[in-house]
Amino acid sequence: MKAVRIHQFGGPEVLTNEDIPAPRLRQDQVMVRVRACSLNHLDVWVRKGLPGVKLPHILGSDIAGEVVEVGEYVSGFKAGQRILVAPMHFCGHCEKCVEGLQNQCRIFTVFGNAVDGGNCEFFAAPAANLVPIPESLDFIRAASVPLVFVTAWHMLVGRAGMRPGQTVLVLGASSGVGIAAIQIAKLFHCRVITTAGDEAKLAKGRELGADYGIDHYKQKISEEVRKITNKEGVDIVVEHVGAATWDESVKSLKSGGTLVTCGATTGPNVAIDLRHLFARQLSLLGSYMGTMGELHAVLRHVFAGRLKPVVDRVFPLTEIRAAHEYMENSLMFGKVVLSI
Ligand SMILES: [Zn+2]
Repeated sequence: MKAVRIHQFGGPEVLTNEDIPAPRLRQDQVMVRVRACSLNHLDVWVRKGLPGVKLPHILGSDIAGEVVEVGEYVSGFKAGQRILVAPMHFCGHCEKCVEGLQNQCRIFTVFGNAVDGGNCEFFAAPAANLVPIPESLDFIRAASVPLVFVTAWHMLVGRAGMRPGQTVLVLGASSGVGIAAIQIAKLFHCRVITTAGDEAKLAKGRELGADYGIDHYKQKISEEVRKITNKEGVDIVVEHVGAATWDESVKSLKSGGTLVTCGATTGPNVAIDLRHLFARQLSLLGSYMGTMGELHAVLRHVFAGRLKPVVDRVFPLTEIRAAHEYMENSLMFGKVVLSI
């Protein structure tokens, strides 16, 4: 099969188009002909080198495609079915997994991180990971959904316990998680403030439902939040930027507010003033991906058209280096997807 592998860590030049044997199907798996695989920032981190990644390695977490072969022990799927693949890798039988908390499984990882991913023509997936997609959703848009939407849902609903009418600050309107979080917060009838690096991106954030936009290069986030909320601050901050915005994010919270973070794109080391933490009774929460139950929950809204995938640009798999460069230059609003 055609595949892109990395044999060493580094820049986009380490991404190599190759012909390799297709994976062997286990009897408890389903073989998927991959039609589209979206890029995430995780692809860049893995490409540059993360512990636990064995070389050569295939990147790619978000897969959509067709079933081509069904293992003997699998029922309920048939060849030709259009599906997406949940990006989570878990054991399926430990205490956490059977409780439905797959993202706390000891072997939990994401496809394309510590195990091979979907930047290739064929992917052998556990049956539990397959979700049929409606005719109304093409493969490109289907592949753009799972990782960022389940991440944003777990942050807001699973971790922060968002309630209708709250005020939510979503950092990075143009990012995959930002696009999902703005829409999910609006679905819960919350007031949404978002941030972006230019007016065009802020306008798109408003089109998705954001009530207010802050230009994080020209304006100070916490000051604008104070103006918008009449000095009160927000109930929830959706953080994934890290060092560059952390202080502003904490300052933007109201007393008793919750900051939930799923990433550290600009750096992982931040400071915390404990006096603010206890006196203002803040909650600082970590969040990583989501559970299978949460993925099914958020997908119901996507399939019904209440949450919209946003695809910025499609590249053929053969042009994956250009796709990585495009994403690293932060030029996009929405997802970059590989067509396979
Ligand atoms: Zn498990």
